[in-house]
Amino acid sequence: MANVVAFHAHPDDEVLMTGGTLARAAAEGHRVVIVVATDGEMGPSPEHGEPPRLAELRASAALLGAARVVHLGYADSGNGGVLHPDPPDRPRFVRADPDEAAERLAAILRTEQADVLLSYDANGGYGHRDHVKVHEVGRRAARLADVTLLLEATMPRDLVAALMRLVDRLRLPLRHDAVSRTAYSPRSAITHRVDVRRYAPQKQAALAAHRSQVHGTGRLAPVLRALVRLPAPLFGLVLGREWFVDSTGTSRSETVTGLFRPIGLSTAARGGVQGRGA
Ligand SMILES: [Zn+2]
Repeated sequence: MANVVAFHAHPDDEVLMTGGTLARAAAEGHRVVIVVATDGEMGPSPEHGEPPRLAELRASAALLGAARVVHLGYADSGNGGVLHPDPPDRPRFVRADPDEAAERLAAILRTEQADVLLSYDANGGYGHRDHVKVHEVGRRAARLADVTLLLEATMPRDLVAALMRLVDRLRLPLRHDAVSRTAYSPRSAITHRVDVRRYAPQKQAALAAHRSQVHGTGRLAPVLRALVRLPAPLFGLVLGREWFVDSTGTSRSETVTGLFRPIGLSTAARGGVQGRGA
């Protein structure tokens, strides 16, 4: 059994690109820990109690079967054209010293004796500045803690483009001009595709646990609301696969079997990673 640590930028990021993988890993007996760089708040930490989005993350993590949630202590950097000054009590993640942030994560990886670290691809998915920073800090931490397998979550770039065309054709109220043609990863770079259709109910429930995002006024809220209302089989059809780039840089990663078997090495694993394609 493996110890799996998933490193994310903000509460709710753990669901869409890795939620099914985490639910499946937990269900198959692996220990799953979720680390978020930021609590999703642009301002200072609340004086009393937990930031609301961290509480939502704990609910989501419990539904996915994660054993532990850790906040690295940084503030959200926001995704607009303006990078706001740091709140008085902590830096925004994008301004964090990369070595210090990597050491904070590496300390958790050592405590957890992590075999697998999930992080983000080099583009930080669609390119939020905190997501790009997760990629950078994840790489450093994996090296510091010498994890066996570093898998960077992504999506096939051509699939994202097709989804955006669909959004346009259906005239859905989603602005996606920020998603560039070079976002995410080309299929040729993707090494792992995890089939998580069986875990669609957990993934969908975890998404619904992020109530402030689903019912808020954010740019993505209408899409999130539509996703949590889909019948579970349809949700599984849309979000039943998750993709990763193996960035371990050594052949050791081939020794991690089962759930994290790379494309190509898979022996008809039960509902496991299969050949290339969406
Ligand atoms: Zn995010």
